[in-house]
This record gives sequence, C-alpha cells and structure tokens, in this order.
Amino acid sequence: MTAKRGFTTTLLHSDRLGKPEHGAMHKPVHTSVAYGYDDVQDLVDVFQNKTKGYAYSRQGNPTVTALEQKVTQMEKGLSTIAFSTGMAAISATIMALIRKTDHIVASSYLFGNSRSIFQTFIELGLDFTFVDPTDVNNVRDAIKENTKMVFLETIANPATQIADMANIGDLCEEKGLLYIVDNTMTSPYLFNPVDVKATHVINSLTKYIGGHGNALGGSVTDTGLFDWENYPNIYDVFKKGDVKAWGMTQIRKKGLRDAGGTLAPEAAHSISVGSETLALRMERACNNAQNLAEYLDTHPLIKKVYYPGIQTHPQHELATELFKKHGSLLSFEVEESVDCFAFLNKLQLVVKSSNLGDTRTLAIPVAQTIFNELGPEKRAEMGISDFMIRLSIGIEDIEDLLADFKQALE
Ligand SMILES: *Cc1c(COP(=O)(O)O)cnc(C)c1O
Repeated sequence: MTAKRGFTTTLLHSDRLGKPEHGAMHKPVHTSVAYGYDDVQDLVDVFQNKTKGYAYSRQGNPTVTALEQKVTQMEKGLSTIAFSTGMAAISATIMALIRKTDHIVASSYLFGNSRSIFQTFIELGLDFTFVDPTDVNNVRDAIKENTKMVFLETIANPATQIADMANIGDLCEEKGLLYIVDNTMTSPYLFNPVDVKATHVINSLTKYIGGHGNALGGSVTDTGLFDWENYPNIYDVFKKGDVKAWGMTQIRKKGLRDAGGTLAPEAAHSISVGSETLALRMERACNNAQNLAEYLDTHPLIKKVYYPGIQTHPQHELATELFKKHGSLLSFEVEESVDCFAFLNKLQLVVKSSNLGDTRTLAIPVAQTIFNELGPEKRAEMGISDFMIRLSIGIEDIEDLLADFKQALE
C-alpha cells in the first residue's frame, strides 16, 4: 500500500491506475456512442445496474468516467457525474431530486444563469426562498415543513460574499436537508464543501478545473453524507444495491440520461489534462489577485474593492478560515468621475470577456452584461452597482498585470 498521495500527485497518476492500453499516460478518448456485448446477459446486467459497464454514451462513457473519478478524488467525495456544462449539472441535480410540492432555500447571491433557471423552476411550480447566506439565521428562518434542499455558492460572483457554510452545514444535518454547494469559485484545490457537511458539490469544470477556456463541462459530486434511506423522492426502481448510491443513480438516470446534458469525451479529455495543473494555476492566480486587490484598494480612482483577501472584506476572517487562499475573482467599482468603459478599453493586456477561471486575466462590466437581464431591482438586491467591474485574474506575470492597470488608470 502506498501512503495517501497529495492533491496533484493523485491527479497526475489517476489515469494510469486504470491501466490504459499501450501504457498511455492519458485515458484515451473513446468516441464510440454504443457498446456491444457477445453475451446478451452482460448487456442486460449493465442495463439493470448489476454490473458496471457501458451501453450508450449519453449516460456513461469511459473517458468521461476517468474525469469523474478525478473530480471525486479532488472533492474527497463518494462519486461524481459529469455533464456538458455547469448549468446542466445544476438543473439535472435539482430536476432529479426535487418534486413539485418541495421547497428550496437558495442564496440570493447566485451566478446569474443559476438564478435564471431557478426562476424557470418557480414558473414550473417549485417553491424557492432566496436569502442572504452570510448568516445562518436567514437560512434557518426560511426553512419550512416541505423544505428539501439548501443551495448556495462558496464565493459569490461578482460581489464576493462568503456564505456561513459551516453553520449552514450543521443546520442541514440537523434538519436532514440536501445541502448543495457550488464550489466553482473556489475549486476543490482551495476548498472541499464536504468539510462543511455539504451533501453535494457542483463544479463548473469550464472554469478553474479545465482552466484554459477551451472546453465546457460541469459536475455534481455526492459526498456520501446524505441519508437516502429516508428520502421520499427516490423512485422504487432506483432503490437497489448500496443505499449510499441511490441518489446518484437517480441523478444519472433522470438528470443525465433523460435530460441529456452529456459531456463529450473530447471535452472530458481537455478538462482532464487541464486539471493536472489546477493547484499550480490556483496558487499563481490567487497570488496575482491578492497583489492586484491591494494595489486597487489604495488607488484614489477606485471607489471599492470586493476581494475576500483584503482586511476590510466583511467575511475576510471566515474566508481565511475556510479556504486555502482567497480566490482569483476580484471585483471593484471605479469612482463616478471615471468613465468605466473608457477605462476598460484602455486595458491592453486584460481581455474584455465574460469567462472565469481562464489562464488569462479577463474583465467585464457586470450590470450591463452578465446581470443585465435581471434588471435594476434584483441587481440592487444582489449588491451589484452600475459601476462594478469583475475581474477573473489569470496566471500572467504580476508585473505585467500591475503595469496594465497602472497605465489604464493614468
Ligand atoms: C460558470 C458558472 C456556472 C455555470 O457553468 P457553465 O459551465 O458555464 O455552464 C455555475 N456556477 C458558477 C458559480 C459559475 O461561475
């Protein structure tokens, strides 16, 4: 037996443990849609979940499985299902586990598209309450008889509020609720939601895990903490075998197979390769973000900086306690005397783009783009001003980044 290996070592050698043919370093990209069997009983057993195997790639593919195993290792979870995007992972998880008479408590500081799909669920008849999750009491007050789930993000985008995650985890455990934490902003390198008793972890693999802005993907990881035995929404047909697997069986069948948000094997391969350097990239990007946040925080033309790594951030201590570093998402407001668009256009290195978690530093004016559809009222509720700029800090040399901001603010 080898000793427990570190985060990056485990990732680098994960594929080889499955002994890919010819001694390949990577799990090959399996493009076959269907899988054939010589004995029909073997095919039947795969269909009935009696043996592990593949039948049709919409609900499982060997290249995708290799990535799922890596995410499970990174999140210290029980098992993972990958999807075509982070949004597919979120919608499939909720569709598979929630019924129409159920209630969900969600953070009011959510990724814009998550908020938007939740609005669609409300129109389809689900009941949501949105609360400020920086205080567990807001979550406790919102819980009703029919509450089944609490859903929140680690570091909110764009205003970087940090949820009171450990206390909310205790509350969910006490009440027997599903506790879904979207870990995209922190990534499993900075934080594992299982440590605050999350029952499920969402990751947009598109962002830090893939890391190079060249593939879309998403995942849900079951941490093994939920008691499926007493959960009323599991269909009898999925109550087979190990109780711990019931929830994921239902997500794979109802959420992935039926809804069809399948990750392509080519994308799974790109994300797998990208994930090998997650730790290195996060270290560098977080250090860059800290440096830049400190520079912007003292600049007279910058009104306010939102970054959990600066002392004046309202949840600075909580973030320091929970996360290995303070992330690479950094937002700020320019003084009203500064023309926000002209300033952005003066940046030469920083790319004006909507993505996050790329190797390159990206900037976007928030109210006019990613949160434009929400309208001014909901934006105000989420703490988003019209002068806010969001940065996703990359891994460039810090001197170059600082120089770009200095010349643009001149
Ligand atoms: C980007 C993002 C998502 C959605 O992921 P996609 O892969 O773009 O669908 C979900 N949650 C958060 C916090 C995100 O930043």
